[in-house]
Amino acid sequence: MIEKSQRSRREMRFSGHPISPGIGIGPVSEAAEPVLIVPHRKIFAADIAAENARLEDAVALSRKQLGKLKIRLASLPEQSQSEISPLIDAYVHMLGASRLMRGVKTRISDQLLSAETAMMEQAEIAAELILGMPTTDPAGRARRADEVREIARRVVQNLTRLPFRNFANHAPGSILAAESLRPSDAALIQPSHFAGVITAEGGADGHTAVMLRALGLPAILGATGVLEAAKPGTIAIIDGETGEIVLNPSAKSLRHARARLAERARTQRTLSRLQRLPSETTDKVPVNLQANLELPFELPMIAQSGAHGIGLMRSEFIFMNREVLPDEDAQSEIYRTIVEAMDGDPVTIRVLDWGSDKDVEALNVYMPDTGEANPALGLRGIRLLLRNPDLLETQLAAILRAAAAGPVRIMLPMVGFQSEIIAAWEIYDRTWRRLKRRNIRLPDIQPPLGIMIETPAAALAARHLAKHADFFSIGTNDLTMYTLAADRGLPMGSKLYDPLEPTILRLILETAAAAAAGRIPVSVCGELASRPEAAPLLIGLGIRELSMHGNAIPRVKRAIRNVSLKQCTDMATAALAAITADEVREIIRG
Ligand code: PEP
Ligand code: MG
Repeated sequence: MIEKSQRSRREMRFSGHPISPGIGIGPVSEAAEPVLIVPHRKIFAADIAAENARLEDAVALSRKQLGKLKIRLASLPEQSQSEISPLIDAYVHMLGASRLMRGVKTRISDQLLSAETAMMEQAEIAAELILGMPTTDPAGRARRADEVREIARRVVQNLTRLPFRNFANHAPGSILAAESLRPSDAALIQPSHFAGVITAEGGADGHTAVMLRALGLPAILGATGVLEAAKPGTIAIIDGETGEIVLNPSAKSLRHARARLAERARTQRTLSRLQRLPSETTDKVPVNLQANLELPFELPMIAQSGAHGIGLMRSEFIFMNREVLPDEDAQSEIYRTIVEAMDGDPVTIRVLDWGSDKDVEALNVYMPDTGEANPALGLRGIRLLLRNPDLLETQLAAILRAAAAGPVRIMLPMVGFQSEIIAAWEIYDRTWRRLKRRNIRLPDIQPPLGIMIETPAAALAARHLAKHADFFSIGTNDLTMYTLAADRGLPMGSKLYDPLEPTILRLILETAAAAAAGRIPVSVCGELASRPEAAPLLIGLGIRELSMHGNAIPRVKRAIRNVSLKQCTDMATAALAAITADEVREIIRG
């Protein structure tokens, strides 16, 4: 640690997680966090009612603060609103008749704990429980645990009258620096007030990171040691793309940073102009770009992305984190909201893909206890749905009802065998006929039923499957995992899991050729579709439709608009002849 007296004006460099791209230049301004100490305090039985009343007052105040925060959101960019608003709803929900609050009250009355002790202890147990759950999304799990801790902290701050952090009294144009930032702190930051944000703690996938990204403010989290080195007013340059922080920059570093700032502004202008331009190669071959969606709150961001429809709605997300499963009416309402929001652009809804480590707690009653040693290779997706036809029928009915509001396609996950599609068709036709008999409002024509190609078996049998499916969508995430026998959750940089392996490219080619022969549409909706450098390669393999996270669309579109079909097919031919993923990377880098 550098002593204050030793801090010099020489240039110093630090690095952290790059969160939100952009160059920020300005004086550092530190926002210190009031320390919250909660001693383990017991109460007398006679004080239980009074303690519960204190708790209720603090909860009411917390709700009021969250209400104000929500009103403040209206002044933030639309994308930030869509990121932050559901989080505030989740906080408000936790303050209601939730398991968390029931637990706190039980601790007060049964264990005679003070309200703040009970709140902190119960939240810690709930957070630990969440962290112990199996999941495919460890970052999401960590975020949920943080949400519980954060709401507990807010209530305790209100119980103990500890002041909240204030971000308004920093000089405009400064770099906000903090040991750590919570998501609700991030919601209080006015992006136009700051040149950037740096923290000493924090990871790349937390809610704080998500919000800073949504605010569009250059940000770096987890830059260890930076706070000790920067005294208030120290000039800093931060690069939110590389995660680099320069303190006391030299004249040369400042010149360089200013040039990059100007360059970035030019790129941003080009990307926003792209939104209105068609997605096509230089020789006018159209490539349809669609968005992947997990929950309806992402819709405003998708609308701004220039997506022509939703290529993958992962419907399992509407079943997660719920104690009660959404029934046909509730599901239909959610699907309808999405279909209406897309205003005539198609929406592809994938029926429940659960099982393996996509854990949906409320669905566990439908999961046979087979004691599978290797769940990723056991009951998952369509295999589980066909064992629970009622569940599938309810979901199909809900989707069909929503399809009266606009074009919809239905997609089956994890198909490996022709028999699975045939069995699903039987259930689908039966559902269609049943709704017709009941005079339910339906579209004129039964919506297409297609399949994910995400197992090597499906890719290799694609020519047969094309006779039974109305469309294909290639899920490169699972296709890579199952082909290479390498877990998709392996840490970044693992050489084992790589969708650019030539074996995967051959399966994509085979699937695209089978779709062309069977005259059905084919798209790619795995993460590979969101990588701009891979877009020309996929086009060369015969793909004309890509579905990805909405944020990725402008950059993928720019990559497509810079190549001709001939360049794409030459690239694909070379990549297919390669032996390793590294060779493929060289080829696509050009
Ligand atoms: C895939 O496997 O590529 C895919 C899109 O499905 P998910 O990521 O939801 O498993
Ligand atoms: Mg998948």
